[in-house]
Amino acid sequence: MRNYDLDTTCVQGGYTPGNGEPRQIPIYQSTTFKYDTGEDMGKLFDLEASGYFYSRLQNPTCDLVAAKICELEGGSAAMLTSSGQAANFFAVFNIASCGSHVVASSAIYGGTYNLFAVTMKKMGVDFTFVEPDCSEEELEAAFRPNTRAVFGETIANPALTVLDIERYAAAAHRHGVPLIIDNTFATPIHCRPFSFGADIVTHSTTKYMDGHGAAVGGCIVDSGHFDWMAHAEKFPGLCTPDDSYHGIVYAEKFGQSGAYITKATAQLMRDFGATPSPQSAFLLNLGLESLHVRMARHCENGQAVAEFLSADDRVSWVRYPSLKGDPYYGLAQKYLPNGSCGVVSFGIRGGRKNAEAFMKALRLIAIETHVADARSCCLHPASTTHRQMNEEELIRAGAPGDMVRLSCGLESSAALIADLKQALDSIGK
Ligand SMILES: *Cc1c(COP(=O)(O)O)cnc(C)c1O
Repeated sequence: MRNYDLDTTCVQGGYTPGNGEPRQIPIYQSTTFKYDTGEDMGKLFDLEASGYFYSRLQNPTCDLVAAKICELEGGSAAMLTSSGQAANFFAVFNIASCGSHVVASSAIYGGTYNLFAVTMKKMGVDFTFVEPDCSEEELEAAFRPNTRAVFGETIANPALTVLDIERYAAAAHRHGVPLIIDNTFATPIHCRPFSFGADIVTHSTTKYMDGHGAAVGGCIVDSGHFDWMAHAEKFPGLCTPDDSYHGIVYAEKFGQSGAYITKATAQLMRDFGATPSPQSAFLLNLGLESLHVRMARHCENGQAVAEFLSADDRVSWVRYPSLKGDPYYGLAQKYLPNGSCGVVSFGIRGGRKNAEAFMKALRLIAIETHVADARSCCLHPASTTHRQMNEEELIRAGAPGDMVRLSCGLESSAALIADLKQALDSIGK
């Protein structure tokens, strides 16, 4: 792997054209690949040779983009998936199966919570959710003999808590299991979880990495740091023969650096088929080329908006990890010293009624169930994503009636603040 800085890797990572080859990553819009002999292809099917044969498993365009994200995270291997949901499902299911248990932070994306607590539970995988700031005793008590992974988000969506990654990595490793970190909100520009001991990183590339609201996608990156063979009894899928590939043992054949992603590709992508299209991967790469430039602006806007809101009497509270006085400011300084993200949440004085009136009055900032887009958008969780809940349930879910979640885009901070100000002015008029 080349050793460029992050900015340069955003622009040129993953792909180096040869003499006379396309400067931009080519879109290999082909489901299948041609071979001269059956033996050639047979070797691919047996995982005896590497190469492409069917785009459900692997496609060159997708692999070039995965290679760029792998370089950005400082990993050993990576794969794209069709969505962030698929990435988190594969990341966990690759090492956990019926009868396994996983420890997860309770401050995670709602879709991931549903995947874990409802759908994977039906598949026989049990989850214990712990508050991200729980005591050391509570964290220890969450582990069981059948625990196979620990899961958390660098910056939680939408709670905006910052995970103490080193603490969670230490707990996971004491119990001989890897730490999986969803790094969607921070992106590798602002936090590289592997340098704090995380073993596997996932992304919803739909958010900042794409950044233009153009393509849904996901990614899984392996650090290559976790020694599966040292805990072989816990990970039979990686450390004992795979009957569906003539008895290959992934951890032996592909080593510590390649086993996890090879298994996820060869088994999970083969069987579940959550593969991205080469077109979507191409769009994702366009986003990645400016990720480092855009993240700086998202954070600059987030900071300016958070400071404006916290100085306004009509706003009762503001949460933004990089804002002085935020409960997560200390952890943000450690894990996100150059900035966190563009998402700010806050409460409108006067509760739900005023929050709804405020939202209605916004002109530039659009109402959307999306975040991390070039265009600023916001959401009133109590009347949309969480509308089935009563006031008490809303508070418990971290989405009280007065809460607005705002994703600062790439517009000027002056224009965003002007829109917020006129919307605040209009409340009660
Ligand atoms: C959006 C999101 C997901 C799910 O990703 P999709 O691409 O929508 O499937 C997972 N984790 C986090 C932190 C997210 O913000």
